[in-house]
Amino acid sequence: MRHKNLVKVISLLTVFCLLFTMNPFYASAKNDDFFAESVAMGTDGMVSTSHPIASQVGADVLNKGGNAVDAAVAIQYALNVVEPMMSGIGGGGFMMVYDADTDEVSIVNSRERAPAGATPDMFLNEDGSIIPFQQRVRHGNAVGVPGTLQGLEEALDRWGSRPRQQLITPAIQLAQKGFEVDNQLAQAIQSNEEKLSLSAAADVFLPGGEPVSEGDVLVQSDLANTLKSIRSHGADAFYHGEVAEAIAATVQDFGGSMTPEDLANYNLTIDEPVYGDYKDFTIASMPPPSSGGTFLIQMLKILEDFDLGQYDVRSFEKYHLLSETMRLAYADRSAYAGDPEFVDVPVDGLLHPDYIDERRALISLDSVMTDIEPGDPWSYEGGAADYEVEATVHDADSKPGETTHFTVADREGNVVSYTSTIEQVFGSGIMVPGYGFMLNNELTDFDATPGGANQVEPHKRPLSSMTPTMVLEDGKPVLTLGSPGGPRIITAVLQVFLNIAEYDMDLEEAVKEPRIYNTHTTETWWEEGVPADVRAQMTDLGHRLQANPNLVGNVQTILIDEATGEFVGVADERREGAAIGINRPGNSSGKGKGQGK
Ligand code: GLU
Repeated sequence: MRHKNLVKVISLLTVFCLLFTMNPFYASAKNDDFFAESVAMGTDGMVSTSHPIASQVGADVLNKGGNAVDAAVAIQYALNVVEPMMSGIGGGGFMMVYDADTDEVSIVNSRERAPAGATPDMFLNEDGSIIPFQQRVRHGNAVGVPGTLQGLEEALDRWGSRPRQQLITPAIQLAQKGFEVDNQLAQAIQSNEEKLSLSAAADVFLPGGEPVSEGDVLVQSDLANTLKSIRSHGADAFYHGEVAEAIAATVQDFGGSMTPEDLANYNLTIDEPVYGDYKDFTIASMPPPSSGGTFLIQMLKILEDFDLGQYDVRSFEKYHLLSETMRLAYADRSAYAGDPEFVDVPVDGLLHPDYIDERRALISLDSVMTDIEPGDPWSYEGGAADYEVEATVHDADSKPGETTHFTVADREGNVVSYTSTIEQVFGSGIMVPGYGFMLNNELTDFDATPGGANQVEPHKRPLSSMTPTMVLEDGKPVLTLGSPGGPRIITAVLQVFLNIAEYDMDLEEAVKEPRIYNTHTTETWWEEGVPADVRAQMTDLGHRLQANPNLVGNVQTILIDEATGEFVGVADERREGAAIGINRPGNSSGKGKGQGK
């Protein structure tokens, strides 16, 4: 990302035109105006997101010469408007960036933090019982201090070549002029009607008491004004002054403790990935405070010696081995994972080859493990836990979050893999009145009971499962992966990778292939397509399968062919996203459904 400053100066000159000229393309955007292909090819870059309008916004940035980070920033702002139930400035996320100039992979970690007033027992009733999940979600105590905006600003500062003012403008247009509500948003509003009715969100999503429907044009004027103020003043417009005061007052109205100082004190971190290898691939993924990367790699290492590819992709053996591996990994996850600023997470022990062998030896093809306990990774690392080691059992009514993952690659070789969240669909359901954005409920990702690695503490970040990932060959990204879906995320990423590494599937097939999900406490989730006779065989052996199919994640991914310079992008059809390939005029090797301008 050289010539950053020069490009910035040139961009600043052009931005003023853009500021005052609305791009009619985004005004009252209709879904039919946008490419909604789930698979694309390109020679000069790729964008894949779970919303066609956001993909278009990202593709436009790349087509105009912006880099992958510029596009990712513009996409995140646009998603806040067109997919307001999944992510936004009221939340947090992990943006993994490969910088082609330095050959380095790093992560802008904008995970939400607990406010100073948070306490380990804040999710317990007075009698010590756990407050039911749906109640916890809607309470002000669930709201973490948001990090997304600081993350976007930091990313632009480090790698951007276009000014914020330019990148945020499409989102402002979409909020101000409106866009056509798609099925995903309409469904989300309908199924969260009660939660939304409790806050200012009702005025936006339930006007006149009726949920906005598919095909309606949704205008979000308050959000447009907030974004305009961010356009002019950057993160300061959010973390200080009237917006910070309004956030704190709203959270307090819902019983939480957040203060304007909590917002002023928010700080992100720049993290290095956790690395592992599988066959000839190097995996770079998300370290703690996410459990994602560590347990993705742990599961891969357990599975590597089973040589999964020898079994049919929809065989009993494959699903059994996957399920047992997931159960072991999630027992460890619940005992040892937390925010590394507060607790020691034994990442080296969890990934130690001898520990992996010990865990793998517990799995048999002829039986299902009973009473799964966490192992003792500390004995492979030298050290001891400074917290209670106990496999946490989540209360029965807790529901995995469901947010968003997107990915961008540019022609210079820069790559972004970004999972972004407000936790549950529409987060806490709390909108900041007058400012138009939703507040997360990320703090329900903490254990509700005190004592463990993931107990609530002031300023701490709750344990995440988000797994933005890059697969590298000779140090260069050849594949990006990531998904929403709370704890299901890790297993979704695992399976798409295995479909490629073990089953030689192309990217589209790898994403489409039905997935399963299991933990040490849940019933096995399975998607449509897992054969009935295989499910029966699993049940006979002692697996507990869910009665009905349920979706596992939503993977946006890019494959980069170093040899030909081609990009393949896939947006998971489990939602209605879009992949858009960039093909510059004169670069004729691109084929397929890309887009050039
Ligand atoms: N809160 C979830 C986590 O951090 C993310 C929710 C989602 O993206 O699905 O693991």
